[in-house]
Amino acid sequence: MSSITELSLNEIVSNIKSKKFSSTEVTKAFIERSEKSKKLNAYVTENFSSAIDCAKKFDEKPNYELKLPGIPIAVKDLFCTNGIKTTAGSKILNNFIPAYESTVTQNIWQQGGILLGKLNCDEFAMGSSNETSFFGNVHNPIGENLVPGGSSGGSSAALAANLTPVTIGTDTGGSIRQPASFTGTVGLKPTYGSCSRYGIVAFASSLDQAGPMTKNVKDCAILLEVISSFDKKDSTSIDFKRNNYSSELTNNIKGKKIGIPKEYRVDGMPQEIENLWKKGIEFIKDCGAEIIDISLPHTNYALPTYYIVAPAEASSNLARYDGVKYGFRSAGENLIDMYEKTRSEGFGEEVKRRIMIGTYVLSSGYYDAYYLKAQKVRQLIKKDFDDAYKIVDAILTPSTPSSAFKIGEKSDDPVSMYLNDIFTVPVNLAGLPGISIPAGLDKNGYPLGLQIIGKPFDEQTILNIAYSMEEKINFKNNISDWWI
Ligand code: GLN
Repeated sequence: MSSITELSLNEIVSNIKSKKFSSTEVTKAFIERSEKSKKLNAYVTENFSSAIDCAKKFDEKPNYELKLPGIPIAVKDLFCTNGIKTTAGSKILNNFIPAYESTVTQNIWQQGGILLGKLNCDEFAMGSSNETSFFGNVHNPIGENLVPGGSSGGSSAALAANLTPVTIGTDTGGSIRQPASFTGTVGLKPTYGSCSRYGIVAFASSLDQAGPMTKNVKDCAILLEVISSFDKKDSTSIDFKRNNYSSELTNNIKGKKIGIPKEYRVDGMPQEIENLWKKGIEFIKDCGAEIIDISLPHTNYALPTYYIVAPAEASSNLARYDGVKYGFRSAGENLIDMYEKTRSEGFGEEVKRRIMIGTYVLSSGYYDAYYLKAQKVRQLIKKDFDDAYKIVDAILTPSTPSSAFKIGEKSDDPVSMYLNDIFTVPVNLAGLPGISIPAGLDKNGYPLGLQIIGKPFDEQTILNIAYSMEEKINFKNNISDWWI
């Protein structure tokens, strides 16, 4: 039998329920492996001894009705955890201990989850490789010196390396789906408004969503069920009837119509990605679904639109880090000097770049030309999807234009880094749900993902499509434990 840490969430839950494993045993197994895996740099904060205490408490009085009975889970360090340091990967929050809990993590603890630790991420979730973190880059367990994707790179690495049975990330322009694709794991960005943003360190508020990152689709459905909830504390949270995603999961997708958008065939896309996409189309046909060619004509404008809207919102959200209320403070000769020094020393290069772009596109004289224009284009991108969904139930695309790249390969070239988000950002701009599933390996043996995009609030359909494809693809990750 495989060791505990290799099992899926669903398998661990069954074993805990049948009393084959105790929560303490499971928690210790993940801690032991995490201790041996420090080289990956996946954790910013470990919560190991409290996790064992919580597991023991669970075992003394187990509640098997819960969806995550005594399951240890490490989470992205962008979720505020009451009394436990939350850094967002930034020096400016290096000493920040929240006095409240994010709703999403609260939902996990309420269902029996136990906090294992806080996982590394790009600073304020800005990045595609986890290289902008103040706490250093994270290694992809797939191969030494490969990035794990970003911004949820600590999450994807910890999951793929079996340091946590499942995890959660946040996705503003691809930060769940791209790292999932780079590590051979499953990542879902829910419809905007499904998971509460309360207590998540804000990057770009009209785009940010939390979501599950898991080893398979079933686990993804279970975790989504736990974290998705209506929350009065988030004014953009939406009160709709949520499915029991895991019990309603089916691999029957006969008759479903799946769109293939011609605009996603971008110039210079590697043949391997094109082939993977074709393979995905064949799998879908094998499952009895129908393939339909569609057009999303404004796709080309998605990346420039995102890189105006996201920095604009970020520059506003990050104005609160001034050294006064919380976080790092640098001494200054007067108030203005203190602000300047705090922000110059506290923020990293990428965050400063975004703040400068954001304040520029919002400044008088440029607001109409950039920000307002971008908002209008965003509506056109949304309308493209609305039109497509009159004829199809979901859309299939590659998740990323490449497999995991080398640490340092793109860090000096922001534009080539931003290009990594080309297939994921339209989904955030339109507020739609999207899932990335591992679909194959490239010539180096690195994983490649396919993305399924759904109608608003129709997570069930994309989970079902992913579930049936997963069965056909039968993906096996190629991990050697090189770091141990
Ligand atoms: N890579 C994108 C960016 O840097 C998306 C990040 C995210 O989704 N948080 O903005």
